[in-house]
Amino acid sequence: MKSDKIVVCGGGGFIGGHLIADLLRQGHTNVRSVDIKPFSEWYQTFPEVENLQLDLQEKEACETALKDARVVYNLAADMGGMGFIELNKGLCMLTVLINTHLLLAAKKYGAQRFFYASSACVYNADKQRDPNVTALKESDAYPAMPEDGYGWEKLFSERMCRHFREDFGVQSRVARYHNVYGPLGTYEGGREKAPAAICRKVIAAKLSGKHEIEIWGDGHQTRSFMYIDDCLKGTQTILASDILEPINLGSSELVSINQLVDIVEDIAGIKLKRSYNLSAPKGVNGRNSDNTLIKKYLGWEPNVRLRDGLEKTYAWIYGEMTQRK
Ligand code: NAD
Repeated sequence: MKSDKIVVCGGGGFIGGHLIADLLRQGHTNVRSVDIKPFSEWYQTFPEVENLQLDLQEKEACETALKDARVVYNLAADMGGMGFIELNKGLCMLTVLINTHLLLAAKKYGAQRFFYASSACVYNADKQRDPNVTALKESDAYPAMPEDGYGWEKLFSERMCRHFREDFGVQSRVARYHNVYGPLGTYEGGREKAPAAICRKVIAAKLSGKHEIEIWGDGHQTRSFMYIDDCLKGTQTILASDILEPINLGSSELVSINQLVDIVEDIAGIKLKRSYNLSAPKGVNGRNSDNTLIKKYLGWEPNVRLRDGLEKTYAWIYGEMTQRK
């Protein structure tokens, strides 16, 4: 029902902000957005939404957040790109408090659906050593050897969602996001991810006339990147589905970081001299999303071409950087 109370936790963040915009576009009238950041730092705010600034690591805050909630999206996490998660493992693990207290509150108030945003960082590191990857299928999360810190927290929280469903009837659904990118997200400050960071570096080179770029790692590491529109569609469809096990939500268009830079350079219309910082955080060597299951269940997979999504992302970051300048 369009009047059902929907709570977006982490609504001041990148994906949360876009999700709320999409819910409003669909005509939902009873949306609550919750985030720890001061309102001035939210990526998007909407006056027609009930906006709350709360620390969802606190149990009482989760109860305030989920009171009367019918649908809950848990997108709140203390996270960022590799530069953040490799250097802040303790902070990443503390996010376990958010999901724990939100699940307890969802149980208390009888929420009908609970979405949890997990990550490809749950996958076993041994399966990601070769840049010529075999795409990761859902069963590759076990035996467990996830990304230390952030990945362990995600894997544990996934598991908790499962047991709250089985034991207490909280109807949890879990998607494992693979690198989401798009406009209105973090592109500087240390928490940004590769697509935004590379757009920013290319734009900075273009604006300064200093045609050089530093790339983290040797540039051969491979990834797939999902555009925000695909993420929103997949998230809402998985939430409404009967898919009970965690499922991949990611693009299967694999590129190396060098190829990602090629595309952004092409969009910018410049060529840069590349240097490689081999001691910078770079994550696993290769990672892609096996989309067999999502295609089987939903007859769909994320399909926005990387080039198309990057054009929009580049344009937005360019606007931000030039306006500020
Ligand atoms: P984001 O950092 O933009 O949004 C997360 C939001 O959670 C932030 O606004 C932050 O302030 C908020 N938050 C952190 N701690 C909080 C607390 N204690 N109480 C309330 N709010 C708190 O990140 P995002 O890219 O929008 O990611 C959303 C979710 O998707 C996260 O769970 C993330 O781990 C997951 N995810 C994202 C990606 C990606 O590529 N963006 C990939 C895999 C998984």
